[in-house]
Amino acid sequence: MVQMAELDWMTYQSRVNTKGCLIFLPVGALEQHGPHMSMNPDVLIPQAIADAVTDRLDNAMVAPPIAYGYKSQQQSGGGNHMPGTTSLDGHTLSCTIRDIIRELVRHGVRRIVLMNGHYENSMFIVEGVDLAIRDSHHNGVEDLNIMILSYWDFVGDDTIKRLYPEGFTGWDLEHGGVMETSLMMHLYPDLVDISKIIDHEPAEFPPYDMFPVDPSLTPASGTLSSAKNATPEKGEILMKVCVTGITDAVRKKFSSIPIISDPAR
Ligand SMILES: [Zn+2]
Repeated sequence: MVQMAELDWMTYQSRVNTKGCLIFLPVGALEQHGPHMSMNPDVLIPQAIADAVTDRLDNAMVAPPIAYGYKSQQQSGGGNHMPGTTSLDGHTLSCTIRDIIRELVRHGVRRIVLMNGHYENSMFIVEGVDLAIRDSHHNGVEDLNIMILSYWDFVGDDTIKRLYPEGFTGWDLEHGGVMETSLMMHLYPDLVDISKIIDHEPAEFPPYDMFPVDPSLTPASGTLSSAKNATPEKGEILMKVCVTGITDAVRKKFSSIPIISDPAR
């Protein structure tokens, strides 16, 4: 894979000026993921997927990830009161994304994929992208195309049935659960200690949020469902499904988009 930050600027520039150049920007979080796992899976997983997808595409690069994300929400990440979880205000995240895109556009990049790894980021990524597209229109750039995706949306029902024979609790309760733990066991086994997994029933929440949050609603482990059934083999399956699905989507979508500003690009 090609890491943007590891290129010299002239090599980078010539890649950007080569037809179809595409940049992946992983967007993650620094967030507790239970006692059995490091706090950076939301960065490392989308980055690993972006790396693998890049290997399958012509002229794609991965930009350094945004390693912080929007505030952890109790019903999807345990809550922002947890030690270690270190979050940005929503507008900080949106503006960071807008600024990075603006710089990429200044370099000549017109195709960008935002690869989200943290549920709570979603709408703030949309906002950053919307601001960036608005700004670029004001600057006369009309051919900027940006895809936003969260990798778990590429895990279809067949895979879910295969990986969760005991039943699936939904992506929001997957925080620190089977999916993320399996992926980390496959990709970064040194960052997982399965002996520390706390087996518990899926968290139960009312159909509303109260602020300030009641910390007692978050399971003591910080995970929202048990990672007991996580395995590196499941991680490998998830990785394959995501990489294949995302590669196909990116290929299909970006090959059909006309390039209007610079025939060389
Ligand atoms: Zn996570």
